[in-house]
Amino acid sequence: MTASAHPRTSTELIRAEEPVVAHNYHPLPVVVARAEGVWMEDVEGRRYLDLLAGYSALNFGHRHPVLVEAAHRQLDRLTLTSRAFHHDRLAGFAEQLAALTGTETVLPMNTGAEAVESGIKVARKWAYEVKGVPDGAATIVVAAGNFHGRTTTIVGFSTDESARSGFGPFTPGFRIVPYNDLAALEAAVDGTTAAVLIEPVQGEAGVLIPDDGYLAGVREVTRRAGCLFIADEIQSGLGRTGHTLAVQHESVVPDVVLLGKALGGGIVPVSAVVGRRDVLGVLRPGEHGSTFGGNPLAAAVGTAVVGLLETGEYQRRAAELGVLLRERLAALVGRGVVAFRARGLWAGVDVDPALGTGREISERLMREGVLVKDTHGSTIRLAPPLTITAAELEGALSTLEKVLTA
Ligand SMILES: *Cc1c(COP(=O)(O)O)cnc(C)c1O
Repeated sequence: MTASAHPRTSTELIRAEEPVVAHNYHPLPVVVARAEGVWMEDVEGRRYLDLLAGYSALNFGHRHPVLVEAAHRQLDRLTLTSRAFHHDRLAGFAEQLAALTGTETVLPMNTGAEAVESGIKVARKWAYEVKGVPDGAATIVVAAGNFHGRTTTIVGFSTDESARSGFGPFTPGFRIVPYNDLAALEAAVDGTTAAVLIEPVQGEAGVLIPDDGYLAGVREVTRRAGCLFIADEIQSGLGRTGHTLAVQHESVVPDVVLLGKALGGGIVPVSAVVGRRDVLGVLRPGEHGSTFGGNPLAAAVGTAVVGLLETGEYQRRAAELGVLLRERLAALVGRGVVAFRARGLWAGVDVDPALGTGREISERLMREGVLVKDTHGSTIRLAPPLTITAAELEGALSTLEKVLTA
């Protein structure tokens, strides 16, 4: 008799993963079997409020009916053509996404890391063909503490040793400067600089929000240096911070924006490089591509995601509920919380290390029916779906208060 002949418990399923699934993650000991909206349910039927939202891939909650409907309709018509042929969903997706983000051109990809890689390739080609950087000499300036994904090139310019160590040799051509330091950025750009690549809010680093004026300063430095400003909005974009893009907090328009995570509606991986036509225009047929990038199913779901954001309702919710989130977290400072940073419905909370590691706090919250994820040390990150109600958010923050003050 096979092990699957009877329904397996959470404990059995966690044990069953151990010998057959690579250990590149250390998940909380919860086994989710279904979810709807902000709620997840484990195999034993216990319910949890999802305060992580798939690292912002679930900005609209689990199985948003509009997104599921769009996916179902597309599944019944056409799922994949490859870009060898045109299909009838790509033009509309690109038009609507460009309009939503105030850009001209869309390069569709799948994962966030692919969007970052694509942005790097575009910036280098632009540097050689348009800026006139000598071949092979282009540099890209990035910030310490960055998180841009897991490919060998990307981890090569990470400052997190656990992300880099053992994976070299790495791609050359990157300069690392401190985040939120315009003088250091100014000193790092020169005639070889193709682009400055930064996150408008550093999510994985613990939701680090730069000082007011930093993003506008990056725009100014890159303009003066004649290089591109690439904003990685894969986690910060698409409503999370109370705007469509986090750079809009400073009314900044980058040359290139990288999108992912929420663009796939929590259903399929969808990412995109969006930006100026003259920049993305350096790519010609055969020079870059992806078998699945811009596929009909992805385009249908992505179009529905853009449709949800076009109303402004989710951006407004993030901004309004963000006020509540900040107020409740401010009341916990000195009562288990050392410090916190928040923008929109997104917060990094530094818990008093005496109360436990971020991991231990996350496990305690899990037992109380709230799912979060630690970043590192004693920092936990809160990023609920933007569909959460004020009452649900209040409930989750009361649970946090209970866990921290118990
Ligand atoms: C998640 C993330 C990525 C990588 O996205 P994947 O889809 O996991 O490859 C890149 N940049 C930022 C800012 C992210 O948060």
